Amino acid sequence: MIVFVRTLTAVLSLSVATCVVAPAASAASPRQEAAWGAGLQRIDGYVPLYWDAAKGRLYLEISRFDQELLYQVSLASGVGSNAIGLDRGQLGPTAIVKFERVGPKVLLVQTNYTFRALNAPDAEQRAVADSFATSVLWGFSVESGNSARVIVDATAFFLRDAHGVADRLKATGQGSFRLDESRSAVFLPRTKGFPKNTEVEAIVTFQGDAPGPLVRQTTPAPEALTVREHHSFVELPPPGYQPRSFDPRVGFFPLTTYDYASPITAPLERRLITRHRLEKTDPSAEKSEPVAPIVYYVDNGAPEPIRQALIDGASWWAQAFDAAGFTNAFQVKVLPADADPMDIRYKMINWVHRSSRGWSYGGGVTDPRTGEIIKGNVTLGSLRIRQDILIGTGLMAPYAALDPDDGPELSDLVPDATEDDIARMSLARIRQLAAHEVGHTLGLEHNFAASTYGRASVMDYPAPYVTIAGGALDLSDAYAKGLGAYDLWAIRWGYGADERTANAVAEDGVSRGLRFVDDDDARSPRSGHPLGSLWDNGPDAVAELTRVLAVRQFALSRFGLHNLPIGAPVSTLEVRLLPLYLLHRYQVAAAAKWIGGADFSYAIRTAAGTSPATPFQVVPADRQREALAALLTTLDPSVLTLPASLLAMLPPTAFGYDGGPSEHFDSHETPFFDPLAVASIAADLTVTALLQPERGARLVDFHARDAGNPDFTEVVSALVSKTFASGAQVRPADLALRRTIQHLVVTRLIALAANVDASFAVRAGARHGLRAARLALQTAGDATGTALREDIERYLARPEAPAPRTPPSPTPPGEPIG
Ligand SMILES: [Zn+2]
Repeated sequence: MIVFVRTLTAVLSLSVATCVVAPAASAASPRQEAAWGAGLQRIDGYVPLYWDAAKGRLYLEISRFDQELLYQVSLASGVGSNAIGLDRGQLGPTAIVKFERVGPKVLLVQTNYTFRALNAPDAEQRAVADSFATSVLWGFSVESGNSARVIVDATAFFLRDAHGVADRLKATGQGSFRLDESRSAVFLPRTKGFPKNTEVEAIVTFQGDAPGPLVRQTTPAPEALTVREHHSFVELPPPGYQPRSFDPRVGFFPLTTYDYASPITAPLERRLITRHRLEKTDPSAEKSEPVAPIVYYVDNGAPEPIRQALIDGASWWAQAFDAAGFTNAFQVKVLPADADPMDIRYKMINWVHRSSRGWSYGGGVTDPRTGEIIKGNVTLGSLRIRQDILIGTGLMAPYAALDPDDGPELSDLVPDATEDDIARMSLARIRQLAAHEVGHTLGLEHNFAASTYGRASVMDYPAPYVTIAGGALDLSDAYAKGLGAYDLWAIRWGYGADERTANAVAEDGVSRGLRFVDDDDARSPRSGHPLGSLWDNGPDAVAELTRVLAVRQFALSRFGLHNLPIGAPVSTLEVRLLPLYLLHRYQVAAAAKWIGGADFSYAIRTAAGTSPATPFQVVPADRQREALAALLTTLDPSVLTLPASLLAMLPPTAFGYDGGPSEHFDSHETPFFDPLAVASIAADLTVTALLQPERGARLVDFHARDAGNPDFTEVVSALVSKTFASGAQVRPADLALRRTIQHLVVTRLIALAANVDASFAVRAGARHGLRAARLALQTAGDATGTALREDIERYLARPEAPAPRTPPSPTPPGEPIG
């Protein structure tokens, strides 16, 4: 659910052709070629192919010289590891290319469309073109031909690592791999010709010297890693597409190019949005059928009931196009059994398997000249739904009713009434996810503000909204069902409006409060927009944090054997505990953004001022302090401590259950479960958020602007006083936990004080906190408390002296949560 791959290709709506064996004489003219092609299989199409079965060689017949076409590389079969990131159906580099004949060679040249001189005289265009590099992707040797058309041997061109698999394996620490041509070959079942596109697929094998662990996990013989890479040559889309100017107030992906012919007083950058071509058959009608609808195809390899959920979720977009003035403009179908998902003509929703859970993607192929999206390509990771099932079984304790009639059936995932609830929630998430990823391929960026005003967009990351009702948890409203107000507005602006009416539509959305906050202002812990958060819920991040803590506490207090199906090892309780124990992690991050935060918009200058009217506004001081107070409650022993009854029965990982995709907490007691490390992990969510260096610097600044705003030292003092204040006598049973959290705070404060990238005032604030902690530890009589005080003293006296410290336990991966 993430990045939009900006690449390109062509929209074609032709029936699927099949390979045709024809005499080579039909390919071209004279005698020479007829003699050359004898006995070869001709595959007719946009760029005709010849297959030499005897020698295993594939030839291209080239007749369109100096004419541009699209060239797209993709990965037809993947490696199956989320961490490596080489997934089935992944799109690779795309280019606008042309064949240039030079004596005995044909060069495949990629045009540079980033730097141009639009509508300028030829000489000016040449000056720009010659100022920047082009790329010759390949040099073919002419085998046969005449002045009109030539035959080139393209076998080596297709049997190369065009997708960059070896580079990716190396970059992800999987070792050095090189392509072995002797174990690579053209894959004929997916090598096809069509009137407007030619598709070639190749089996490519990589020889590895010392394959890394991820390859070892997923590949039968790790030294020989075989995938299939796909190449498409496609006719450029026809003229007539109307590019649309970018507007930062509406979250469409920008396509930025540089126009050196623009007047010197006008911007060099030309910012367009990416979107599909969609025209009304009757442009004057308020509502009209489109000239050609946007049709998506769902992977026929997706099983039921997931397949139907994908169709349902993707189909939500039909409502938006309907509201934007079109009839039947957006359709979703199942890919026909005889169609090829790698065929560039199909906009695909792929269901992809990996060995571990990971992100889903909405990508596509975009014309770099205009921003026209030609192919949408969605990749959905199949393990996502299992993460939702895991969250659901952790929350719901669904195995409470151990009805003997049910029998101990391992296959029966959830043998009681909540089975339906959890499955329904998980399928609701898949619908939402399908809509989200398709949204990317329609041109839409994330909108991380949308969850704060009524689930206004499927382009946000949703956290399951779980409530306590009637003494039980309720999952029925966990995920949104349908598009939101922002989605309808965005499609109306991007597809329903034209260049002339777009601003009025944008203003309409702004006046209705349809806020947009993108990745850069939400994803990083250093971002500081109070509305820009991932996996959060509701308009009030602070109130929601308190509510989520209550839901978490409710589920934790009941957590135990009822969360496990009969037959499952008791140790696997930990796997179910992990997402539940850290249920509040994203709401902590959301609430922290209020502290030293500012509500801002991507406002533009208007005649009257700005739109929206307020470009930047510091979060009110009382709201910042409310957030601080709520965050500090997450450090209460009651939040961090697990029920003693659970600890009393939780064994280490059962024999035979090591490895695999299951996630575990860090432990200093390995192989035992470590409740102190676990508490430290949860506490660290808050401690790290409060001591975030950019947040600290903003606090210093905002306090300087208005003394009513909290200063960074106020935040540090509150943290230290929460975790160190003596107050009531600490029970011996709580002392170990208390010292663990204090050690975490001291470690984070020393790291911040030593962080040369942090502002001096922030580092000074950290030292201020250390001095306060030292003071509080003055009376500590136990070994840990004394050592902690000595640690602080040593650091304050000699900050440069090396002092190896036990690092805080790492936070287990959380995203994507469902
Ligand atoms: Zn996304």
